[in-house]
Amino acid sequence: MFKRGVKLEKYLADRTALIDASGIRKVFALAASMKEPINFSIGQPDFDVPEPLKQTAIKAIEQGRNKYSITAGAVELQDKITEKIRAEFQWSNPAALVTSGVSGGLLLAFMALINPGDEVIIPDPYFVMYKHLVNLLGGKCVFVDSYPDFELPVEKIARAVTSKTKLIILNSPCNPTGIVYSPEQLKSLAKVASEKDILILSDEIYDKFCYDSAYASIGGYYEKTIILRGFSKSYAMTGWRLGYACVHESISPVIEEMTKIQQYTFVCAPTPFQHAALAAMDYDISDFMADYKARRDMVYEGLKDKYEMVKSGGAFYMFIKSPIASSSEFVKKAIENNVLIIPGNVFSEKDSHFRLCYTTTPEKLARGIEILNKLA
Ligand code: PMP
Repeated sequence: MFKRGVKLEKYLADRTALIDASGIRKVFALAASMKEPINFSIGQPDFDVPEPLKQTAIKAIEQGRNKYSITAGAVELQDKITEKIRAEFQWSNPAALVTSGVSGGLLLAFMALINPGDEVIIPDPYFVMYKHLVNLLGGKCVFVDSYPDFELPVEKIARAVTSKTKLIILNSPCNPTGIVYSPEQLKSLAKVASEKDILILSDEIYDKFCYDSAYASIGGYYEKTIILRGFSKSYAMTGWRLGYACVHESISPVIEEMTKIQQYTFVCAPTPFQHAALAAMDYDISDFMADYKARRDMVYEGLKDKYEMVKSGGAFYMFIKSPIASSSEFVKKAIENNVLIIPGNVFSEKDSHFRLCYTTTPEKLARGIEILNKLA
């Protein structure tokens, strides 16, 4: 890596100075040098891709489905996505694009929408990628504090809107808080967005991970929503790089522009895995979800007496108040004790909490809980 301020800087584009290396990856990299760490850091499932889905991908490779697909994705997969969205939101003619993960969808959407100086409203805490991608494109993040309960701060969002607001980003269930927004909250945000005529980008990568209530999307209440969904987390295929974007017909030019940019960047999502994604859409993962719900309960019950925390209803994270003022300092202490967690300032303008990802074995969870309780 070049160091800023030394001569080699002349080779780098100025925009590289606008972003930092991911704080999650830094902690994850530490794990490689530790002996059997209790790793609560990176957000990915600990189960493997279900066997029938692996077999579908293998068969697709063996059958020679290894060339480019059309830019927007294999037609059968696009049709399956639009059919699902049509049924879910009663949109008559939605437009879809298969992306290289939700990350691919985020980059394409931001490139299609954000002009330098445009404001993007983001509830804080937030998924790391939003801030860095918006900055990379010269946009301005407007963070809206959702502490201490992390519920959707509708009134604060309404107050944050200006003539430069381009987009509001939602992420429910949320990374890093695990909070799931209620239909009532989503309806009131839809009202605000509709009155001010602002697009919403809804990152729904954890839509299947809801433990206490049925999943609700703002797409059901607001047509000017860009829905981003993925396969990485639900089917444990984080390395297969698949996701999709879908919109109501009234804003279909957004998908058209994203598709145009995909032509010159990703070209298409990985073809053999698109066939597996098609099969995944009919695959039942309720057993995995029941397992994660049990782990969520175990973490909450195990830590609630010593830590200030909100019981999360989804995803696989808890965002927990650090027992000392600086969460970064607390995380250092936890790592010295073999527990990897992520400091809150990676996901927030504050440094008061830490993120715990509970996608690990019940044995490791129990040991991690014991150590964290000793550190409190
Ligand atoms: N959005 C959120 C909220 C996430 O947590 C992640 C993965 N950590 C992504 C998007 C990106 O996922 P992928 O590109 O693997 O689909």
